[in-house]
Amino acid sequence: MMIMRGSLGTRLLSLEDPYTKEFKAKILALSTTNGLNRLILDRTAFHPEGGGQDSDVGEIRGPSGLAAVSSVIEVGGVVHHICDRIEGLFKPGDPVIGKVEWGHRYGLMKNHTASHIIWATLERELPKARIIGSHVSADKTRFDLEVERDELKRSLPRIELVARKIVEEDRPVKIEIVERDEAVSRLKSYGKSPLDLPKDAEWIRIVEIEGWDISACKGLHVRRTGELGSIRLLRRTSKGRNLDRVEFTAGLEG
Ligand SMILES: [Zn+2]
Repeated sequence: MMIMRGSLGTRLLSLEDPYTKEFKAKILALSTTNGLNRLILDRTAFHPEGGGQDSDVGEIRGPSGLAAVSSVIEVGGVVHHICDRIEGLFKPGDPVIGKVEWGHRYGLMKNHTASHIIWATLERELPKARIIGSHVSADKTRFDLEVERDELKRSLPRIELVARKIVEEDRPVKIEIVERDEAVSRLKSYGKSPLDLPKDAEWIRIVEIEGWDISACKGLHVRRTGELGSIRLLRRTSKGRNLDRVEFTAGLEG
C-alpha cells in the first residue's frame, strides 16, 4: 500500500480514511509566527485546505494543553495546525489526541462529492459554458461560470434534477492512486482531457463516481453518492457580463 505523505512528510490519515474522527499523534514542533500558534505533528487526520476545499477544524489535546484548531495548511508536505486558542502548555515529544469536528468534516466530504457530481452535470448540460472556478466548504459548493445567462437560468432546474438522480442512484465513489498513463486512459474513457492532470506527477489520485465522472483530486469524499441525501440549488448570482456564480448544497433537507 502506498503511504500518503508529503515530500517531507506529515502522514495524512484523512486520505487513508476520511471517516477518521480521532487519532493519536506526537508533537514534532510548535511555533508562533505573526501571532498565529502552529502545531506540527508526526501524523494527522486534520485535512489541510487545498484544491478548492476548506480545511478541517477541531481540537488537539495533550498531557497539559488544549488547542482549538481553526485552520490547517500544508507547506512543503508538512501540515501546520493553526490554533487560535491554546490553553496550558505543549512541548515537542508530547503525545496528543486530535479530534476532527465531525459535522464540519462530513459536510466537506458530502459537498466535495456533490461538487464532482455537479461539475460533470454542468459539462453535460451546458457544453458551451466554461467553469472558471469552484470552491467547497462544509455547507455548500460553488461554481463561477462563463455562460450565456438566459441559457443558465433555463438549465438550472434540469441540472439540479440530474444531480439529484445521481444521488438517488447511490453510485459508488471509488478512490485509487494510479500511474500517470493509467490515469490518462481512465480520464479519456470518460471523455475528459488529460490536460486536467497535475503536471509532473508520476502517481495520480483519481476519484471516480461510477459511470458519471472521473477527476484527479486530493480532496475528501463519501463512499457512495446516496450519503448526500440530496443536492439542492441555493442561488445564482450575477458576477459580471456573462459571469455567474451558482451555489449548491448537499445533505441538507428542504
Ligand atoms: Zn475534487
